[in-house]
Amino acid sequence: MDIDASGAGLEHVDVLVVGAGISGIDAAHHLATQQPGRSFVVLDALDDLGGTWLTHTFPGVRSDTELFTLGYSYKPWTGAPYAAGADIYAYLAEVVAEEGLTDRIRYRHRVVGAAWSSDDQRWTVTAQRTDTDEIVMLTASFLWMCHGYYRHDQPHIPSWPGAEEFTGRWIHPQHWPADADLEGKRVVVIGSGATAATLVPAIADECAHVTMLQRSPTYFFQSPNSDELADQLRGLDVPAEWTHEILRRKAAADMENITNLAKSFPDATKAGLIGIVTGQLPEGYDVETHFTPRHQPADQRICRILNGDLFAAISAGTVTMVTDDIDRFTPEGVRTKGGQLIEADVVVTATGFDLTVFGEVDFTVDGDKVDFARTVTYRGILFTDVPNMGWTFGALRLSWTMRVEMVSDYICRLLAHMDEVGASSVVPRLRPEDADMELGPYVDPSEFSPGYLQRAVNYVPRSGSLPEWQLSLDYWAERDVLPTVDLDDGCLIYTPTS
Ligand SMILES: Cc1cc2nc3c(=O)[nH]c(=O)nc-3n(C[C@H](O)[C@H](O)[C@H](O)COP(=O)(O)OP(=O)(O)OC[C@H]3O[C@@H](n4cnc5c(N)ncnc54)[C@H](O)[C@@H]3O)c2cc1C
Repeated sequence: MDIDASGAGLEHVDVLVVGAGISGIDAAHHLATQQPGRSFVVLDALDDLGGTWLTHTFPGVRSDTELFTLGYSYKPWTGAPYAAGADIYAYLAEVVAEEGLTDRIRYRHRVVGAAWSSDDQRWTVTAQRTDTDEIVMLTASFLWMCHGYYRHDQPHIPSWPGAEEFTGRWIHPQHWPADADLEGKRVVVIGSGATAATLVPAIADECAHVTMLQRSPTYFFQSPNSDELADQLRGLDVPAEWTHEILRRKAAADMENITNLAKSFPDATKAGLIGIVTGQLPEGYDVETHFTPRHQPADQRICRILNGDLFAAISAGTVTMVTDDIDRFTPEGVRTKGGQLIEADVVVTATGFDLTVFGEVDFTVDGDKVDFARTVTYRGILFTDVPNMGWTFGALRLSWTMRVEMVSDYICRLLAHMDEVGASSVVPRLRPEDADMELGPYVDPSEFSPGYLQRAVNYVPRSGSLPEWQLSLDYWAERDVLPTVDLDDGCLIYTPTS
């Protein structure tokens, strides 16, 4: 699409936020509270707020981390620690209403283009209305990408031989149909992650049978959906804000302990996790095949089974685990490489995400198309040679929101600093001493390696060998560094306001 970069005569905002999920709502909160003099709008392609927590409606959809940290620091979570998707959506809707952000968000606006003009020191942003196809253009001084990490419109579905021959119904959890009638059906759920593990027990009772077909196993925790300390504090009528903050700190400390344990003692952690699973399953169950992952516990998120529901369904015989590669689909179902034919009326592809490359927005800088794979990230937030643009990428090992708020604080501090030094734009540039720096993937695969990141490695920015040029996966280190990091460290180049 050709975009007029002059932007003359268009509506102008100081900051344009793309996305109204957890990240975009937090960006709006931070702008409203920390930068009240700045005008901003939030554009989202969907019909409503919430992002992930709007689009995902499959049975059993819920959080995998507790809401004390998946929720915001400034809005107490008063329910059970782990929440259903609809309750998370309701929480986010309350934040938007209570903070007066409703009129700041424009829905059904898919941002398709963003053109930076150095002459004008602004972005011209093109959005397409998803209801009318109308093209809407506006200009913005700063572009804040809060588009999440995966494509909402396009789930990841591997191409399997014979898939077109299957005569049953296909369903993807990302687009769960309102008319999905599973009553009495034989259902195969393909996947091993949190989605499969929450969906399977939620549908087990209504289906004739559910098979969870996974290529390789995942690590699981097991816990009740309750927190003793939360119950105690609430029983003592401690103010909700205090209770929230205490539980938030406890949850973060718990996660730190688990992460450290998993990194320092991988074998013991592995044995402990597998032991928990073994204790939940019938005597003699083949835990080695179905619940003993090949990766180490720190490499990917550990999924949580609430109240052991998946294990109870397996024990009751309503769910069967199959761990094998898919050979092909047939009209009746799916055949595994091991030769097993699993007959199915419905196949649910809980096969994960396709990473979004900056919301599929077509970026140009002074007329040149931006190839993000050629950029280097500055602290996982800014990108070399892309002025006045930041990306909120949340935490991976702990609740996404824990890093979201840190990034929002950083971007607001950067905006304030630009005012102080009289700059109209900021862009990271490699310093002479960075010229020979070794470059690697945006997320270090030796640290964290989910499939959606591995599949997209050639499309996303690179990172360097110095901390300035890396996305930190160490929340605790970053929490100490980011709030005070020098904004004049030589990596950030400011253009004076003319
Ligand atoms: C089923 C499920 C359970 C999860 N559970 C947890 C959990 O327990 N803990 C945890 O930490 N994480 C969890 N996650 C990850 C979760 O996605 C994040 O925690 C968080 O919700 C991401 O928020 P976000 O705002 O960054 O992105 P999203 O929720 O993906 O929202 C991005 C928004 O940007 C909009 N957008 C994107 N591109 C454009 C564009 N070009 N123009 C306009 N709008 C655009 C989208 O429409 C969307 O509304 C889960 C994910 C899923 C799918």
